[in-house]
Amino acid sequence: MRVVLATEPGTPGWPNEDFAAVAPGAAVLLDGCTTSPGTVTGCVHGVAWYARMLGGALLSRITADPPVPLAGSLSAAITEVRNQHEDICDLTNPATPAATVTAARVTATGIDVLALADSVIMADYGDGRPPLVITDTHRAAGASADAADRAYSATLPSTGLRGIALLSDGATRITDKYDQLSWSAMLAVIRDHGPAQLIRHVRAAEDSDPGCTRWPRSKARDDATIIYWHEPVEGPI
Ligand SMILES: [Zn+2]
Repeated sequence: MRVVLATEPGTPGWPNEDFAAVAPGAAVLLDGCTTSPGTVTGCVHGVAWYARMLGGALLSRITADPPVPLAGSLSAAITEVRNQHEDICDLTNPATPAATVTAARVTATGIDVLALADSVIMADYGDGRPPLVITDTHRAAGASADAADRAYSATLPSTGLRGIALLSDGATRITDKYDQLSWSAMLAVIRDHGPAQLIRHVRAAEDSDPGCTRWPRSKARDDATIIYWHEPVEGPI
């Protein structure tokens, strides 16, 4: 298994609220939903903590043996994190920490994928097909395990697949907000030059528009995180 990962916080002095991790045969990437400074969330831990805890719990569950469906794994992970702080935090607060979720896992029949909210999974084909871009429009995962039922999930055939990418929206904005690269071109940069190079492209675009006028946006820079998994095929780890 060969995986490359890059992450860079968007705001100096503010925690990176993205979380990404890999294990043999599995990868997760979450993007914690930023709250405005001063917002009362009811949680003493914060968004970065929430994304980290949920991501760790999810990775543990999607690598369990025997395997559990990804949505079921996410539901259990949300409950696990909830149990860790519901006694000391007010999880009924509407601003309770939340995070987008993406996950991928190799199985004997293909690649299981799950997406909740606006992070992206891309299937990178080596046979001339354009990349498959998977995302979701539901609300991010917060304190309720019901969110897992709304996540998009599928199993992709591994035929022709040369890679899988997971990206937070701070990275995909080079394409879906700034229109500087096609999805195919974005994947080529990540695959051939590494995910850190794509983040450099993102930052260069943002530095060229410091006033957020060419591309109106609430955050001049956002946390940007990318995992690229080369040739995710079933086999000995
Ligand atoms: Zn808390």
